[in-house]
Amino acid sequence: MAAQLLTGKEVAQKLDQDIQAEVQALKGKGVNPTLRIMIVGEAPDSLYYANSAKKMAEKSGIGCEIEQLPGTMSQDDFVKTLRDRNNDRGIHGIIVMRPLPKQISEDVVKYVLAPEKDVDCFNPVNAGKIMAGDLTGFPPATPQAVMEMLKFYDIPLSGKEAVVIGRSMVVGKPMSMLLLGENCTVTVCHSKTKDLPAVCRRADVLVAAIGKAKMITKDYIKAGATVMDVGINPEGDKFVGDVDTEPAKDVAGAITPVPGGVGTVTTRVLLKHVVKAAKLQNS
Ligand code: NDP
Repeated sequence: MAAQLLTGKEVAQKLDQDIQAEVQALKGKGVNPTLRIMIVGEAPDSLYYANSAKKMAEKSGIGCEIEQLPGTMSQDDFVKTLRDRNNDRGIHGIIVMRPLPKQISEDVVKYVLAPEKDVDCFNPVNAGKIMAGDLTGFPPATPQAVMEMLKFYDIPLSGKEAVVIGRSMVVGKPMSMLLLGENCTVTVCHSKTKDLPAVCRRADVLVAAIGKAKMITKDYIKAGATVMDVGINPEGDKFVGDVDTEPAKDVAGAITPVPGGVGTVTTRVLLKHVVKAAKLQNS
């Protein structure tokens, strides 16, 4: 039997409804949830991303301001500007687009961004909160989007074997902690893992976050497993995931498509975090 296709659209619609209801409730109390996206220098990719996030935010009633700063700005000036945004009570969530120009160190800036406004987990305080199971934190949007999808589609997690391929701070590591938080038995794989297909075949839930087009063939998948494909890799004029989806469908029980899967949900997670930040800052 072909695998169930776990599409992102329905999950995104449900999140939109929840977000809109929460935004209305906040507005009723005089709070207008607002996101500030900071871009330093000419960065067309960042601007494209920011504009599409703004469009989506405004559809949900969330304010979104894009702040474009000169690429020649010094680190001290950027830090001062960021501190001003931290202290601005009209801004609830802040995203600092990366990469930053070379005179501005990410390692300095990430500690300046106030953790309570850091809606995309840039400040290590928020990474630490995932480890501690502290629900006041903000996990990165992508692994959180995977969790939203698993929850929406009612995929059983407690006591299940989860294998995460990838150990980046943006996806793999926080993903493993979020799955552990749902009582999965988690294995994290990387480029030095021995016999990756055999390790992956243990998984009831397999998360691929590698960045290698179609690397995960059906030989990596246990019959009936849930496969969450985080990869976004250019192939010709389109994008493909880290999983070779069509053949994998014959083995998996459920699988996310690329495009139309996890990526569809990530911006909604960011907006959900802006609403959460606004609530926490006004409770
Ligand atoms: P990174 O390049 O930071 O990390 C890739 C990870 O994959 C590393 O841990 C690396 O291991 C591991 N890896 C690489 N090659 C192999 C291999 N042959 N076998 C096993 N493991 C391997 O990528 P990201 O975590 O940032 O992103 C992963 C993918 O997710 C990319 O395709 C990216 O485009 C996509 N992505 C999707 C998002 C979405 O919204 N859907 C958002 C963010 C990213 P090692 O540590 O040993 O080098």
